[in-house]
Amino acid sequence: MNIEIIRTPSELRARAFALRAGGERIGLVPTMGALHEGHLSLLRIARPLCDMLIMSIFVNPTQFGVGEDLESYPRNEESDLAQAEKCGVDIAFCPSPEAMYPSGYQTALTLPTLAAPLCGAKRPGHFDGVATVVSKLWNAALPHVAVFGEKDFQQLAILRQLSLDLDFGIEVLGGPIIREEDGLALSSRNVYLSQEERAQAPRLRQGLLAAEQRYSEGATDAVALLSAARAIIDAAPLARIEYLQLRNATSLAEVQEVTAPTLLAVAARFGGTRLIDNLVLHPCPPQA
Ligand code: AMP
Repeated sequence: MNIEIIRTPSELRARAFALRAGGERIGLVPTMGALHEGHLSLLRIARPLCDMLIMSIFVNPTQFGVGEDLESYPRNEESDLAQAEKCGVDIAFCPSPEAMYPSGYQTALTLPTLAAPLCGAKRPGHFDGVATVVSKLWNAALPHVAVFGEKDFQQLAILRQLSLDLDFGIEVLGGPIIREEDGLALSSRNVYLSQEERAQAPRLRQGLLAAEQRYSEGATDAVALLSAARAIIDAAPLARIEYLQLRNATSLAEVQEVTAPTLLAVAARFGGTRLIDNLVLHPCPPQA
């Protein structure tokens, strides 16, 4: 394997400084490993935008809540590295939790407004952990461009804001959601689903599409759009909706009527597995 593996932030930072001094443009794709086509699609987006492509693999403990799946989260570094190399990754950053959070570590970041609704409301502290670890990754990898998936739409909104607020000056790009043939969004957590749960999981996507269809037929109010989605999702007996909401796609403020680009986002549990999905409704320009 030719991929370069770095395991401490200080080593990566020294490498990144040298790359920058040599005029190289750095791209970064952060992941928690257990790579699938969704992750690989982000690598393919980043590859032509940089000279050196860095991918991180780090199952970040600070973004997992009590009782969540930190211990059982799928890990397979060897096969991840092989896939990353095929997608043109130059450097894999694979730190241990101790390398990222040595004893005495205490700093955390909070984005109170963007992190409050949706997944933030259901997973207290999750986005503090995400914002903090991504800041650390950015400080170590010194990327010019960083690519994240639109599947985690709220995360992407938070990280765009983070780059602005803390003057990272990093171009934060979003990549489209990659799906199975039946519409289920790819996720490292899909392996937890039983056969029955897996069979019903595409209902999430179908619910979102039903709302989009109502929207294309002229419905713009939240009640109509959300009830169209809910009817489809509720028909899956194993689905327990955590949230199903319309939010302004930039501010994430709640929306009663679609007049600007609007996020339609869902989270649901299938047994112990929590799945999320979303799409964006775009208002049509007024007819001349
Ligand atoms: P994770 O390993 O789950 O932290 O995800 C790493 C990156 O991959 C994040 O930016 C995710 O949003 C992105 N990602 C995860 N699943 C998908 C998917 N199905 N399509 C596109 N991007 C994804």
